[in-house]
This record gives sequence, C-alpha cells and structure tokens, in this order.
Amino acid sequence: MISNNRLSSQQYEQNFADIHPPFETQDAAMVEANRCLFCYDAPCMKSCPTSIDVPKFIKQITTENIKGSAHTIFSSNIMGAGCSKVCPVEKLCEGACVYNLMDEDPIPIAKLQRYATEKAMSNNWQLFQRKASIGKRVAIVGAGPAGLSCAHVLSRQGIDVTIYEKESKGGGLMTYGIAAYKVTPQFCEDEVNYITAIGGIDIKYNQALGKDITLQQLQQDYDAVYLAFGVGLARQLEIPGEDLKGVEDAISFIYELRTNNYASLAVGDKVAVIGMGMTAIDAATQAKRLGAKEVTMVYRRTQEEMPCTEHELHIAQLDGCNIIWLAAPKEIKGVDGKVTQLVCETMQLGEPDASGRRSPVPTGETIVLDVDMVIKAAGQMPFDALVNSNGIENKNGKVTINNAATNIVGVFAGGDCVNGGKEVVDAVQAGKDGAAAISKYLGISN
Ligand SMILES: Cc1cc2nc3c(=O)[nH]c(=O)nc-3n(C[C@H](O)[C@H](O)[C@H](O)COP(=O)(O)OP(=O)(O)OC[C@H]3O[C@@H](n4cnc5c(N)ncnc54)[C@H](O)[C@@H]3O)c2cc1C
Ligand code: SF4
Repeated sequence: MISNNRLSSQQYEQNFADIHPPFETQDAAMVEANRCLFCYDAPCMKSCPTSIDVPKFIKQITTENIKGSAHTIFSSNIMGAGCSKVCPVEKLCEGACVYNLMDEDPIPIAKLQRYATEKAMSNNWQLFQRKASIGKRVAIVGAGPAGLSCAHVLSRQGIDVTIYEKESKGGGLMTYGIAAYKVTPQFCEDEVNYITAIGGIDIKYNQALGKDITLQQLQQDYDAVYLAFGVGLARQLEIPGEDLKGVEDAISFIYELRTNNYASLAVGDKVAVIGMGMTAIDAATQAKRLGAKEVTMVYRRTQEEMPCTEHELHIAQLDGCNIIWLAAPKEIKGVDGKVTQLVCETMQLGEPDASGRRSPVPTGETIVLDVDMVIKAAGQMPFDALVNSNGIENKNGKVTINNAATNIVGVFAGGDCVNGGKEVVDAVQAGKDGAAAISKYLGISN
C-alpha cells in the first residue's frame, strides 16, 4: 500500500543524514593530510576531470593555509565544495591514489577538499575578484553545474552574464536530483549564492528556453549564448501497464523528495526499481530510507556490466535492497488502476559483440514480483525536440560540439546536454571549456 508518515521525524533525519560526514576535528584532518605522499605527476590530479592540484591543496592544509587551499581548489573547480560531497571518488581521484597499490586506504581527498571549501563558504571568503565590466554580454541557459561554472569564469573576465533557468532555484540536478544524504537543498542554495557573490551574474528564474524565451531572442540580445540545459526526460520502458497508479519515473520521484518534506512523500511497501545506474541506486536507497519494507532492483545484465560503481551498489545492499540480475521488465499488472505486480523476463548473456560486450538475450521464462510501486530508472533522454526545433546539430538529441561550439555561430554548449549524462565534476569542466571558447570567440585574452 502506498502511504506516508510511516517513520518518526527523528528516523527521517537519521536516514537522510550526511553519508560522508566531515572531519570532527582539525587534528583528524591534519593526520590525513600529512599521510599524503605529494607524488610527482600525481595520479589523483590526472584522474580529476577538473584537474584540481590535489597535492598542492593538501600541502596547504598541512601548513594551515586553508584559504590558500580553498583557492587552489576553486581555481580549478568553483563547485569544489559540492563535488567533495557528490563525486564518485572511488572511480576518480581516490581510486587513483598510490596508497591503493600498497593495499592501504587512499587519502580521503574529497573529505579534505570538503574541509577546506566548507571553511571558505561558511566564512564567505571571496577568493576571486571580477574584472571591471568590459561591455560584453553572454546568455547561459540552465543554472546547473555547467552553466554556473561557465558563468563564474566569464564573470571573472569582466563579462556580464545572464542565466535563464526554468526552475525556481539554481544548482540543476545538484538541487533537484542528487540523493538527499549527499547534499541538502540548503547546501545547494548556499553554493549557488557563494558562486554568484562574485557579481556580474544575474539568474532569471522560471524562464524556460522554448517557452518563455527563444534562442533567436538570446542571439539578438547577447554577444554569445551557452546552452547548459542538461538532460531531463525519463526514458520510458515501452511495456504494458506503465500508466498504472504507482508507476513513477525515478527523476520525478527524486524531484518530489528534494522539494517536499520527507514525511509528506508517498512510498510503496514493496517497491521495484528498474535499472542499475546511479539514479536507480539513489531511488532505491531513498525509497528504503523513506520507509518502504521491501525494495527490489531489477537489472537486465550482470554486476560486471552495471553502470553504477561497486561503492554505490554496496550502499544499496547495506540499505537492504534486493537485487535481481539478468531480468528485464515485460509487463506491469494492476487491479483497479493500481499496480500490483511486475512481470520480468529472465535473461542470459549472448555471444560478445565486436566491442567484447555481451548483450542480454531473453530466456523465455518469467518471474513475477508482487509490488505496489514501480520506479523506472532506465536512463534520461536529451531534450531532442528543443534541440531540433532550434536547428542545433545533434546526435539523438545530444548537442554536437566542436571545442564547445555548436553548428550555430556564437552558440556554445556543454555538460549533460552534450554528453548525455555524466557527473557533476564533468559538467563543471565543460563549463570551463565553454567559457574558454566563448572568450576566444569574443576576442578576449586572459
Ligand atoms: C538522480 C541523479 C543522481 C545523480 N547523482 C550524482 C552524484 O551522486 N554525483 C555526481 O557527480 N553526479 C550525479 N548525477 C549527475 C549530475 O547531477 C549531472 O551530471 C550534472 O548535474 C550535470 O550538470 P549540467 O549543468 O550539465 O545539467 P543539470 O544539472 O541538469 O542542469 C541543467 C539546468 O538547466 C535547466 N533547464 C533545463 N531545460 C531548460 C530550459 N529549456 N530553459 C532553461 N533552463 C533549463 C534545468 O532546470 C537545470 O537547472 C546524478 C544525476 C541524477 C539524475
Ligand atoms: S573534484 Fe571530485 S574528482 Fe576532483 S579531486 Fe575533488 S573529489 Fe576528486
């Protein structure tokens, strides 16, 4: 039965508490910072998509130069505070730490990054100064990580930036998508305010491209345009029963969770989550933390091919989520318009294709799960109608770029709307690349 108010407010708080808590004392941070070997040609730095100088910022912590440390981080990644909470570090910087080769715990890079950046944010240290306005104007569509990162770099150069954002808050999926136990909506708001405090960045909320504004208008009114509207639409399963009550897509489920009180959110007793990416993990773990008695994740391939990391899988397993590998949804059944069962076809892996990947092949056998909620997390689709109606070259809706430039002169793009959906840190780097290309286009030398 789908219901709410099943946990006490204390339990909700506990379930959604910070999954990676900060250092409790300065000494604890110092001990970890002093473990760093300050490798030459540091692999952690190479594995960070924004190329943060990790050894340098850690060294600055050891000498208690926290302002300098935060400056080192923010010069490469203005969302360094948010990234320290959400980066899948096991496959990025910390995964590359040489301590892994010695069978020792890697340096907790993200936690140290959080230590320095949170101090900067809470003390409102403004570490960058914007140059005087040079009379150039750039419009950015989308106030997510790509848009904000691009805006900050451009503003530093004295360019006046206006961001058009369709939601009523900035931060993009940081605010509306990422699990609540990684970042709180309040932190996201603080981060947006910290970034825009440099000045020269005006965010116009509740303004959607294609509805409230057109690309032609932006091209007329600004010297360049940067598209950073992400991906948004949940992929449909295209199976019978998708319209039954109790069938939801993960993005809408998480959006509701991020914008409402936990206690007011309805969740099933027996929930099936379809998919095994980061979104699926977030939907499954949060359904469990909202009080669902049983959560089962269904994935049509095996653990070897799953898109989420081992670390994320462990989070779901530790939360008590069941996993069914090699099963694909076939039909959702219901009674009186409400979902009651999920029918899945079992799969086996076929012969490897040219890339060595083995695709799942149906066995013809089915399994039936009794459920009262189905959450679809089979991926997100690009805004192909928006892209096509504006004549922007694309591949299946993903904007095609060449050094951040689209096929339309003066229009640039980056982030999820180009790559189809990666991580926050990739979007931040895309924003920097976009800003560099726009500066060059406008004839501005750094
Ligand atoms: C459920 C979920 C969990 C995730 N968890 C993690 C995680 O733990 N760690 C991690 O690193 N990454 C995670 N990601 C991925 C990460 O959030 C994205 O890669 C990142 O936010 C992309 O940044 P972006 O700026 O390109 O797009 P977005 O963050 O999507 O920002 C795009 C912005 O554009 C706005 N917009 C859209 N259309 C329009 C329009 N027509 N007009 C005006 N504005 C528009 C949107 O409202 C949004 O604010 C997750 C993604 C999802 C969906
Ligand atoms: S931004 Fe992310 S990947 Fe880069 S160093 Fe920081 S935590 Fe690691």
